[in-house]
Amino acid sequence: ISRNPGELEFHQAVREVFDSLPRVLSRHPQYVEASILERICEPERQIIFRVPWTDDEGNVHINRGFRVQYNSALGPYKGGLRFHPSVLLGTVKFLGFEQIFKNALTGLPIGGGKGGSDFDPKGRSDAEIMRFCQSFMTEAYRHLGDRVDVPAGDIGVGGREIGYLFGQYKRITNRYESGVLTGKGISWGGSLVRTEATGYGTVFFTQHMLATRGRSFDGAKVLVSGSGNVAIYAIEKVTELGGTVVGASDSSGSIYDPDGIDLQLLREIKEVRRGRISEYAQERDRAEYIGGAPVWAVAEKTPVDVALPCATQNELDEQDAARLIAAGVQAVAEGANMPTTPEAIRALRDAGVLFGPGKAANAGGVATSALEMQQNATRDSWSFEYTEQRLAEIMENIHTRCAETAEEYGVPGDYVSGANIAGFTQVADAMIAQGVI
Ligand code: NDP
Repeated sequence: ISRNPGELEFHQAVREVFDSLPRVLSRHPQYVEASILERICEPERQIIFRVPWTDDEGNVHINRGFRVQYNSALGPYKGGLRFHPSVLLGTVKFLGFEQIFKNALTGLPIGGGKGGSDFDPKGRSDAEIMRFCQSFMTEAYRHLGDRVDVPAGDIGVGGREIGYLFGQYKRITNRYESGVLTGKGISWGGSLVRTEATGYGTVFFTQHMLATRGRSFDGAKVLVSGSGNVAIYAIEKVTELGGTVVGASDSSGSIYDPDGIDLQLLREIKEVRRGRISEYAQERDRAEYIGGAPVWAVAEKTPVDVALPCATQNELDEQDAARLIAAGVQAVAEGANMPTTPEAIRALRDAGVLFGPGKAANAGGVATSALEMQQNATRDSWSFEYTEQRLAEIMENIHTRCAETAEEYGVPGDYVSGANIAGFTQVADAMIAQGVI
């Protein structure tokens, strides 16, 4: 803590992993002897840079760019870029630290990294977004490469931004290096299912958790927070599996739709118009807008079987957990990174609610990014069905690995410990094999 002052989210992420490790360290003293805990907390490299750009009126703006190359024991650094005004070094470090273990859980050869900027894309024109992305890449390109570091999207970075970033990388390097970024457009090196992967994967993981109690999504009432990339495709898959999503949100407020979210309308508002979720309630008969409240407030109006936080960190607190428990929630799985506070996780688990941590439950996005890299490396492109099948298998394997590891270490049903221990031991073993570097 004294070495990384003020990086509260980073401290929270490290504490959560370390809390799972006492049993591992007593069983495997080699990790202590090789100082793995000290080494794994320290990024291999962190890059902070100036991103100057000009808005449509000719005003110059200066933002800060970050790339934290955290751990390359298992493969090239891999992790998204976040463009949001709240981004600080500590935010990128928390996300990068989580990414190390998540990527290990996918079973694919990818190390952990993360990046982004405190740039706020809201309300900016396409031309402004393009100039920002070009300026960001003008510095970032020298640190990237398909065998070095492969960024992807995250909050505020979707297909449009990846396109501008890729274009600038290609222009500076004079190389058509498809595998340097993932989340590309389908016609120029992207993978089918990548857009859907995180949301779908979270739902697949939850399906396996529910199955351990003989339950399923069929007939379930579900709350999903957010209405961005992860949320939209989580809603789509839940609906496909027979569930009804009765609430969603954005950073301004939430909607309650007792008839189930009309995904076409939601996508039109969020993806095409880039509008606010309040517009949904204006255009849908029985839907209600609850301004300024998290979607978990909807649990006061209706029973809830499953909750999928898919927006941002620390968005589901102890009070929200109490609301969900009172509404009868059976399972909570994190589509977002660290959306549930430690106190809320404790409350949910004490109440016997199945809890899937983000490292495991939202790993489908990065896993499909790694599948995109595989397709780029072999200059191939796979069908939607085949790629979705691979995603489904990966999510099933992650679920099995977390469940078996939890069992092996004497905490059956504890997916948090299972995910942390399985990811940690794999990375730690590789670090020991590769020497003190
Ligand atoms: P998007 O930018 O597409 O969407 C984020 C959504 O969350 C928006 O609807 C945003 O609303 C909403 N939001 C932000 N802050 C809050 C808040 N405090 N309360 C309620 N809603 C809020 O991002 P993604 O969907 O890509 O990412 C969401 C989460 O999933 C992040 O934690 C990310 O790290 C994680 N993740 C994403 C992956 C991916 O493949 N995209 C992979 C793995 C994890 P508004 O429009 O008002 O800002």
